[in-house]
Formats: sequence, C-alpha cells, structure tokens
Amino acid sequence: MDYEVLIRNATLVDGTGASRRTGGVAISGGRIELVGELNGARGRIEIDATGKVLAPGFIDVHTHDDRLLLSDPAMLPKLLQGVTTVVTGNCGISLTPSPPRIPPPLDLLDGSGQWYRFDTFGAYAAALADARPATNCVALIGHSTLRVRALERLDREATPAQVAAMRAELDAALGAGATGMSAGPAYAPAAAASTAELIEVARPLAAHRGIFTIHMRDENEGVLESIEETLAIGRALGVPVVISHHKVAGQKMHGRSVETIARIATAMRTQAVALDCYPYHASSTILIADAVRFASKVLVTWSRPHPELAGLELGLAAQRLGLSQDQAIDALQPAGAVYFVMDEADVQRILAFGPTMIGSDGLPHDPHPHPRLWGTFPRVLGHYARDLALFSLETAIHKMTGLSAARFGLAGRGVIRAGAIADLVIFDPATVCDAATFEHPTRPAGGIDTVIVAGQIAVTGGEPTGARVGKLVTGRVGIGDAAWAA
Ligand SMILES: [Zn+2]
Repeated sequence: MDYEVLIRNATLVDGTGASRRTGGVAISGGRIELVGELNGARGRIEIDATGKVLAPGFIDVHTHDDRLLLSDPAMLPKLLQGVTTVVTGNCGISLTPSPPRIPPPLDLLDGSGQWYRFDTFGAYAAALADARPATNCVALIGHSTLRVRALERLDREATPAQVAAMRAELDAALGAGATGMSAGPAYAPAAAASTAELIEVARPLAAHRGIFTIHMRDENEGVLESIEETLAIGRALGVPVVISHHKVAGQKMHGRSVETIARIATAMRTQAVALDCYPYHASSTILIADAVRFASKVLVTWSRPHPELAGLELGLAAQRLGLSQDQAIDALQPAGAVYFVMDEADVQRILAFGPTMIGSDGLPHDPHPHPRLWGTFPRVLGHYARDLALFSLETAIHKMTGLSAARFGLAGRGVIRAGAIADLVIFDPATVCDAATFEHPTRPAGGIDTVIVAGQIAVTGGEPTGARVGKLVTGRVGIGDAAWAA
C-alpha cells in the first residue's frame, strides 16, 4: 500500500496524555490512515524520525492573530513553534464585524484601521480562504468589537436595543463559522458592561454550541470576584467558559493562585470551565497607567509617536523624553508594554494544574513583542517539562493538543489516531527550546524539525516550505459533552 507521507521510527506522543511509544504514521488525503506498525507500507515521501518526538500539531488556544493570518499568511511566529491551529479573537477583540473606530485595545490588531474592513464574519472567512494561511484558524467574535460597533458612547451599559443588535451580529457570525465569543471587561471599551450585558449578548452561544472566553474584569486584587463572574456567566448561558491567560497579577497577589486554582477546581466538578496560561511571569498589552502601578518593571513594546523607544524600559524611555514616568505614559500613547507582574511560583502552579491549556497571547504586530509570541510552545516543552520537570512530556503535549481540541470542540484534531486530520509536528526532545527573550523577542525556537498541516509539509529541517493549507475550523461544544464531563 502506498501513502502520500510516511513517518517512521518516531517516539509517538499521541496528545491524549498516554505514554510515549515507538511507531510511525501513514498519511493520505490530509488524514492519518495508519498509526503504529507500518510493516511494508511505502510513502511517496518518507521521513525517518529516529530519536524525535512525533506529536499532534500544537493548538494555540489564545491568540491575537486575526489579522496576521491575512497580512502575513506564512504565520512564521506560530508555524516555527509547531503550531498548526490558532484560536483568534480573544480578550474581546476581533477584526470582525468591523467597528467604525479603533479605540485601544482594538489597535493591538491594527492601529490604521486598514484591516478592520470586514463588515461580516462571512466576509472575513472569505478573505481567509483567499489568503491561504499556513495554519488553521478557529475564530472568536469579540464583545468589545461588537460594542464599539453598536454603541456611540462606551462608558455606559448597552441599551436593550444595542444588546439586541450585538446579539444578532454574534448569531450571524456563529452561523457563518465562528466558534464562540470572547469578552474583555478589563479594558475600557467594555468596562461599563455589566455581567448581565455580557450574558445577554452571548445568548446565541448555547444554540450554536459555541464557547465563551474571557479576559477577566480583574486579574489583580479582584481576581476571585472575577472568577465568580465568569462562572456565573457560564451557568446563566449553559455554555462552557474559558478563563483566558489565568494569572494573579501584582505583588500583593503573589501566592494567591493557590486560592484561584482551588476555586476553579471546585467549580469544575459542577460546570464546564477551562483555562489557559502562557509560560512567562510578565504580561503584555497596551500601555496603561493602571497596569504600570502593579508592575516591578515595564518595557515599551511599541509607541506610535516614539517608535524609536520600543524595547526600552519605561523609566529609561521617560528619561530619553525628559519627562516623568507619568508624563511619559501619556506622551507615548498609543503604545504597548510588557509588565513584570507575576510571581514565577504562581506561573508554575497554574501551568502545572492538570486542566490548564497552553495559549501564547502573542501580539504579532508589536515591533518589540513579548517573547511569548515566538517562544511559548518550545518553552513549555524544553524549559518547563524537560529542564524543570514540572510535568511529563506527555502532559505538556496534551496541554497543547488533545486537551485544547476537546475543550474547543475541534473534531478530529489534537490527537494522533487513524482518521484524524494530519496536523503534526516532529521535534527533538533533547534540544527543543525557546530562543526568544525580552531583549531579543523574535528569535525562532530551536528543535522544531517538521510541521505538517493537513498532510502537507509546511516546515522541514526547521525551515518553512511555503505550503499554506490552513483553513477556518469551527469548534462546536456543549456542557453535556463527554470531553467536558471527563
Ligand atoms: Zn487578554
């Protein structure tokens, strides 16, 4: 029997969390046809993976890649980490349906407004098909984007008519292939939205089997109340909820992940709640004075009026401008920053929590981005699993493949088994590591050898081949699903 691609002699880690075994896979028609013993099978392309790990392609459950998929469809920051699917539209921010103006943090996707040009999700999906990105896309619709579109004044609760308008747009987007809604009440455009508003806008999720994700209202001193709000939204809607980039931020909060994880674990016994995390003790978003005061150190990632200051520590940037730090925060706007706000022990506790998925939260358009954009997945595999032994390699891979696919309802993905879609990665477990640092944030990771998307080889020998066969993928998930009950 001949196959399109054969991978032999691999250390097979299948994404379910099961122990590694030696074996291979045979691929044809974009799917895995055989797993394990290949016997006399032959492939038009044969890859000898001796000494390497073969795993499902990584799923980045938390991205802001809505525009990158179109403007730079090679998707190198993700593809070169072994990521084959990105979940876009997080933190309340999506590129569609296009808002009439671009207040922060919507400018994280595009400050010019040029890419906020898709009036409907269907139009975005068509553009995505034309762009032929190298990775798959699972799209969320941002509540803040809907809100900027529906409300003239953002500093107040939406009226019933405005809620109905937002709800109708979400319903249409879900009908056109979006997977869920994200909310970001931590940010100004949605800070005035009540819990009731978030629930009423998100109502269509249950009928479409969509998911709700949230950058919680408060990740500092009010984090426990914010977890309660998130759980209440999930119960009111009857849909699964995802706590995005879970963290406890600010020195006063260090150590409090003991409580947040305990609360989330308890809630998991009675409702569908998930969470993701990136493997760094610094966060990144737009430059906000409120966030600066919680940080021990702040790096400027971009500034429209002062692009030359990207990469500098905020105090140094202020010095260059001859301003106080508070004045500099104003003078740099609009701008972005990295904030050193977490304690490493909290990061490790959250990462090691069994149900925690891996998501990068990378900001692909920042000139001097947080290194999570290029380093997240190899850092979990190399630094946390291999070097610190925070968990096994099998667990690390499960957190970025099978677990993520189950939580987002991505059928036939995230696992290596006969019939699954052939999104795969081959890497060297001895050398895989992140190379991006806060000083040099765009260095590609090491040890990622081959990346396969839908049976097509997209990376070989660590270099992109130019194959771009990513698609819009729609996840469907409900609170009664076996994946959630498990
Ligand atoms: Zn966020």
